[in-house]
Amino acid sequence: MVKVGIPRALLYYRYHPMWQTFFTRLGAELVVSPPTTRATLLAGSARVVADTCLPVKVFLGHVIHLVNKCDFVFIPVLRSVRRRVYNCSKFLGLPDMTRAVIPECPPILEIEIDVNKGEDYLHQAIYELGRHFTPKKSLIKEAAQAAWEAHDDFRKVMHHAGVMLPEAMTGREGEIREASSNSSQAAIGLIGHPYLIHDEFINHRLIERLQATHSRVVTPEMVTPGELEVATARLGRDYWAYEEEVVGAGSYFLQGKVDGIIGIATFGCGPDSLMMDMVRREAARIKSVPFMSLTLEEHTADAGVLTRLEAFLDMIHRKKRKTLPCA
Ligand code: SF4
Repeated sequence: MVKVGIPRALLYYRYHPMWQTFFTRLGAELVVSPPTTRATLLAGSARVVADTCLPVKVFLGHVIHLVNKCDFVFIPVLRSVRRRVYNCSKFLGLPDMTRAVIPECPPILEIEIDVNKGEDYLHQAIYELGRHFTPKKSLIKEAAQAAWEAHDDFRKVMHHAGVMLPEAMTGREGEIREASSNSSQAAIGLIGHPYLIHDEFINHRLIERLQATHSRVVTPEMVTPGELEVATARLGRDYWAYEEEVVGAGSYFLQGKVDGIIGIATFGCGPDSLMMDMVRREAARIKSVPFMSLTLEEHTADAGVLTRLEAFLDMIHRKKRKTLPCA
């Protein structure tokens, strides 16, 4: 059986159920790298210049982990998923960068997704990818349709049922739905890329720490596309597809949907700094929901994150207690 390596980083957090369905339908076995550790980061970091963004260093560390464990590594190039809106340039050069800095990397399976090039181009790209596993077009088409349905279900369970991304991926939805229905908890909106919010090593176990204070955490994936669309229009369009989603979620949470917002960005990321600034300025303008931004980098220490988090939560919980009817 052909083994396809999937680095647990970057777009993994957005598309894994889709990729998993596609490749397993075509008879491949998936090898997903384990959750990020300091060793993952150090391995990736050693191959690139210091000012490469933290998520890309982590991604490269995951690829290094997959060396000698699979026949191919899957690294898609997502140029554009919405017409005339493009992704961060780091996503476009990932296969080339990986080849250049990890020469021992197994052969890379690539697919370029660019909706601006039309449907025929997209179908051909999917066919070219599927041809590594079967020459039968009908099988590739069926796998692609099943993959799209898996992606759709994954997104819906998060934004319609309020399920967090890791649970939506592992199918522990019922448990979480119950846990999220306590309205006396402080609700904290976390905004940022899913590869920051859901990688516990990168974000210093932020979600776990918030939940330990009995806060309810909501993330951009839990906002419906309709709500995002309206909220994004309110704050203004961004220039990058995924950043627009994060800005839209920030704008949505700012309409009194949560008790506080934490924006997570990485040092040296242009799109992140612009995106967080848009939300921060809007938060300062309307003054109804406190906003804190956390900028993470390779050397960020637990203590620094913890101190800021405690001060922010203390303020949120005091404010929340004052507004409860029995307070
Ligand atoms: S958006 Fe920022 S953090 Fe993400 S890959 Fe691009 S530069 Fe790195």
